[in-house]
Amino acid sequence: MSRNVVIKDAVKTYGNFNAVDHANLEIESGELFTLLGPSGCGKTTLLRMIAGFNSVDGGSISFGDKVINNVPAHMRNIGMVFQNYAIFPHMSVFDNVAYGLKARKVKKEEIEKRVMEALAMVQIENLKDRQPANMSGGQQQRVALARAIVIHPDILLMDEPLSNLDAKLRIQMRATIKKVQKKLGITTIYVTHDQEEALAISDRIAVMKNGVIQQVGKPREIYTRPANEFVANFIGTSNFISGRVIENENGMAKLSVLDKTEIMMPLKNGVTGNVKLSVRPEEFLIGTDQDEGLGGEIVFLTFLGDFVNYEVQLSNGQIVEVNQYGNDRDIEYGLGDKVSLELQQDKINVYSESGEEAVIEWKK
Ligand code: ATP
Repeated sequence: MSRNVVIKDAVKTYGNFNAVDHANLEIESGELFTLLGPSGCGKTTLLRMIAGFNSVDGGSISFGDKVINNVPAHMRNIGMVFQNYAIFPHMSVFDNVAYGLKARKVKKEEIEKRVMEALAMVQIENLKDRQPANMSGGQQQRVALARAIVIHPDILLMDEPLSNLDAKLRIQMRATIKKVQKKLGITTIYVTHDQEEALAISDRIAVMKNGVIQQVGKPREIYTRPANEFVANFIGTSNFISGRVIENENGMAKLSVLDKTEIMMPLKNGVTGNVKLSVRPEEFLIGTDQDEGLGGEIVFLTFLGDFVNYEVQLSNGQIVEVNQYGNDRDIEYGLGDKVSLELQQDKINVYSESGEEAVIEWKK
């Protein structure tokens, strides 16, 4: 049976440093939940606490309503898939997948049935007699996934399962993982440092930095409304442009951008002084009307099929990235062209000068 996972104020300490620093998460039953962040942010440490390979030094972790802080790893009924497959290279695929069931003393006929079901789920029934030593990375990772699900775990934990695969295979395998996970309805906690993979595969994502959870949300929320500059920078591409609040009354503020253009934005009450605007490349409207938006010059461009990526140098010397998609590409611009960049008020984000908090009053 799939379970929810509740993490309350969880801490993992190494010496005098918290690798996981008071983490709070509620992962719903059947959800594919991703821990995302750069190397060293604590995501693997938190996953290992959930698995039972790391102690929980503060707070609690529960599966359903049962606190599992002191339950040994082998009693937690979890399936695990790692980056390095961790399968036995000289044992047949069938025996690799059957291993956990044999250890649990499941009857032979039941083993046969469940192994074949698991192999069918990951589409490698035809490889059951092969040895993983002679198989591709993608096939080996399918064996690892079959082995993790065959025991009917309550929770599936995956630590960078696609990192050893080439780019094309990664995309194929992430679709396989998502389909298998949804079919089984199994609560899955997935660790990756790859933001694109996280956006593609997850129901929800927690973004971590220095052991601290920065934001939890659905992929679209995290992409469109990052909680702070770190998240805006880590997920996708963002241009940061300095702005200043001129007036802020009744939830609507007038901002001056690069001390030139003025725009109205819904900001939180009381926000004054310098702020930072965060604009994704597709959130500019590029044109030539010098009275509209920020003026600049195209200093580099790349044709990428469905869009053109421009580097535009603004009046203060700063270079920003701008994407122009097919539907507004009647005119394409060339090197040295003078352009104007309009900011789309409903799309862009505004942060405090330090970048630590969003100051925009988000429209839900
Ligand atoms: P990566 O993607 O590189 O694995 P991560 O986000 O998973 O990164 P963790 O492996 O969880 O990061 O490590 C978090 C922090 O804890 C790092 O600073 C790491 O050096 C430290 N750390 C992890 N394991 C230990 C350990 N056994 N002893 C001391 N410090 C550790």
